[in-house]
Amino acid sequence: MAYAHRIKPGTKVSLADFDPDADGGLDKEAGTRRADELGQEFGELEDLLFEAGTHSLLIVLQGIDTSGKDGTIRHLLGYANVQSCRVNSFKVPTPEELAHDFLWRVHAKAPGRGEIAIFNRSHYEDVLVVRVHELVPEPVWSKRYAHIDAWERLLVDSNTIILKFMLLIDKDEQERRLLDREKEVQKAWKLSVGDWKEREFWDRYLEAYEAALTHCTTEDAPWYVVPANKKWFRNLAVTEAVVERLRPYRSGWLERLEAVGAKAKAELEAYRAG
Ligand code: ADP
Repeated sequence: MAYAHRIKPGTKVSLADFDPDADGGLDKEAGTRRADELGQEFGELEDLLFEAGTHSLLIVLQGIDTSGKDGTIRHLLGYANVQSCRVNSFKVPTPEELAHDFLWRVHAKAPGRGEIAIFNRSHYEDVLVVRVHELVPEPVWSKRYAHIDAWERLLVDSNTIILKFMLLIDKDEQERRLLDREKEVQKAWKLSVGDWKEREFWDRYLEAYEAALTHCTTEDAPWYVVPANKKWFRNLAVTEAVVERLRPYRSGWLERLEAVGAKAKAELEAYRAG
């Protein structure tokens, strides 16, 4: 069963159709166990991706503040070979970044063959926060959906496997998480008055997310809505989607490795034979 909701091209997305509290009928123990099994499989597939060196993987994580982007990364990378993984967090653009087109800074961080890149926030901020706060005029941001589609198509055509996740929590859950940060010493470093201010724009963010998910989901670079009120379920849903997307590549990667191995062996034998 697919726990994350894959958005089909042509769907007009309404986030109210998804339950952020969903748990797939599992309890925490069973869900955590399954997330762990899938995590192990992710690790194996990721090793093959690295060794075969024919494809790259780009995972985009978006979600309202406190939706769990950091926790999702921690879960996934707990199973990965860190040698081939990179996490890029996209913050408020620097003056240099702003002096370029909005894709300039993200393109520089696109994964090379054999690599995995996880984007913690991404080029989608340029149609999310930028749209909500009108940081550029509408005629500018409204063209960006098409730019994003074209850019992602370029990556796909260069053997990049793309998955984009919107971590969906509700407003009450966000409040609980923000208040927790005040209570727990180990979470206090994340406290920010900005998060409470952004909360006032909740509905406008949802609208901006709906537009991004509606305009920018494709067969090859799909968006997934992930019920994320329950952290263990969020981890399960994301890991499952990634593994299901990578599984069909397994046999091709193995074949490639066998061919490389056979060639190297033949060369070695020829060398030994003098
Ligand atoms: P995070 O919330 O991701 O842990 P920060 O608290 O540093 O990290 O927040 C990063 C901030 O950068 C967010 O408020 C986000 O909206 C903002 N940001 C990211 N990309 C852009 C962009 N292209 N334009 C404006 N703001 C951006």
